[in-house]
Amino acid sequence: MGKSSSLSASNNPTKRAVNEQVIKQINDQVANQLNTGILVVDNEFNIVVCNRFLKVHTDKDINKIIGHNIFLAFPELPEVWLTRKLNGCMQLNTPGFCSWEQRHHLFELPHTRPISTDSEFMAQNCTFLPINTDENGIHVCILIEDVTDVCHYQTKLQKTLDDLALMSRIDGLTQVYNRKHWQESLQQEYAKARRYNKSLSLIMLDLDYFKLLNDNFGHQCGDMVLIEVSALISSLLRVEDIFGRYGGEEFAIILPETNINGALELAQRVCKNVAAAALTYNEQTLNVTISLGVAELSKHETNYEELITLADKALYQAKHDGRNQVSSLTA
Ligand code: GH3
Ligand code: MG
Ligand code: MG
Repeated sequence: MGKSSSLSASNNPTKRAVNEQVIKQINDQVANQLNTGILVVDNEFNIVVCNRFLKVHTDKDINKIIGHNIFLAFPELPEVWLTRKLNGCMQLNTPGFCSWEQRHHLFELPHTRPISTDSEFMAQNCTFLPINTDENGIHVCILIEDVTDVCHYQTKLQKTLDDLALMSRIDGLTQVYNRKHWQESLQQEYAKARRYNKSLSLIMLDLDYFKLLNDNFGHQCGDMVLIEVSALISSLLRVEDIFGRYGGEEFAIILPETNINGALELAQRVCKNVAAAALTYNEQTLNVTISLGVAELSKHETNYEELITLADKALYQAKHDGRNQVSSLTA
């Protein structure tokens, strides 16, 4: 029954007129209730329709912009980009889309959130729908969706994820790489050096008589020394060098594309700089020194761990020989 009456309505001029009236009113009312901007432009980019959303979010008199060119009505629009987008939509007769991730906003509409966001403007997802008119060519309907909340929380979430990713790589006390990240980096650098036949060196270093320093000046003093010494060493390295806390008061430096001579030179410089650093705690001078073991990758090692063992043996040798010095071993 329902089906046959709706079929017959399309042939009945009176019913058709009523239906069109209903559709028009619903369109007008719904369009003005929606929390989405609706803006239609003709094939010369003149504004044909503009709903209440844009009136609410701009101080423009909507009646005055109808019939005007969209780029004159909204001078902030990226003209070259939007012209290409609108032309593409009209010529191909296919919809287009632009998310806030690609372009934060098209229209400079202030957002109404009490939250502080990176932008003073509303973040927008914009959809471009071609509308066929028989006589006046293809128009384009631009739907403007307010996605300020999505943008705000997504940006916050991404920042938290980035912070977490960084925290998972960094040692909390000294702010240099932690052992896990350092070791993963060594694994990668080892594979790279092997694949491209490049040199690779390693320095393992350990603070001398650190237990004594803790015993004499307290654990807080020990912590301060770890922070200061790692900052000093970091300042002596190249950006490519990878410095990490191996554990306790032991640190390690990966030196990509560096042979044993370059590594020894750096190790000596680090050793001298630490010994010469004027560290004080509660106005008392601290004599802090380190011992360093250096190793270079040779054809003998079959995995990166063997390089650590080699540098560790050299470090043990430096300790054995009297500390505050550099020692090296070859496989
Ligand atoms: P050596 O010259 O042979 O290396 O002697 P050492 O005293 O430095 O070595 P030992 O291994 O006997 O002692 C290391 C000390 O480092 C013991 C440990 O409590 C201390 N330590 C490890 N991690 C930390 C830390 O995060 N903060 C402080 N303050 N001390 C630490
Ligand atoms: Mg020590
Ligand atoms: Mg130690």
